Amino acid sequence: MNRILIAEDEERIASFVEKGLRANGFTTTIAADGTTAFGYARNGGFDLVILDIGLPFRDGFSVLRELREARVTMPVIVLTARDSVRDTVAGLEGGADDWMTKPFRFEELLARVRLRLRTATHTPEVTVLRSGSLSLDLRTRRARAGERTVDLTAREFVLLELFLRHPGQVLSREQILSHVWGYDFDPGSNIVDVYVRALRKKLGAAQLDTVRGMGYRLPG
Ligand code: CA
Repeated sequence: MNRILIAEDEERIASFVEKGLRANGFTTTIAADGTTAFGYARNGGFDLVILDIGLPFRDGFSVLRELREARVTMPVIVLTARDSVRDTVAGLEGGADDWMTKPFRFEELLARVRLRLRTATHTPEVTVLRSGSLSLDLRTRRARAGERTVDLTAREFVLLELFLRHPGQVLSREQILSHVWGYDFDPGSNIVDVYVRALRKKLGAAQLDTVRGMGYRLPG
């Protein structure tokens, strides 16, 4: 199992990232300031660090620089509100493997985390998810329902991937919203229902169950 260090002082973002990563099978630890983050990253046996730049006590640039000077080679994904070109260059030159600016979608962060871990360890990846008569190829982004090939929009793809990773499990609207649309969503929105309807139209109505008052489920 992969252990991920989340160096982030904004509690809302830290817990959003943590929840998402745990739901995807990762073990997580949060460090809310730069000094703690450096200590953990240096000695804690993590596989990857998600590093905010604006941190109390010492900023992410300084943490990153000292980690690299200490020959700590684990992947570092910088996650920050600063989006100027200068900061991006500084981060990458400082030894960051990847860079994301806030606000971000969790799906995108997850994809980058997986990519960095794969590059680091060369573990074979699952490229086709299957359940019942459905399959989704993560490389070609093509879905199949029985013998039919189905074209999906980018959001429909992410939504179907989420269901296929949790077959038989009821996913609440809120879980789906935060996973597919990020943390800047309007909880009163009916966008999940709209997209589930669209998926049903493409895949067949029987492929997604409505669980009244709870959410939706891909029959396992
Ligand atoms: Ca911060």
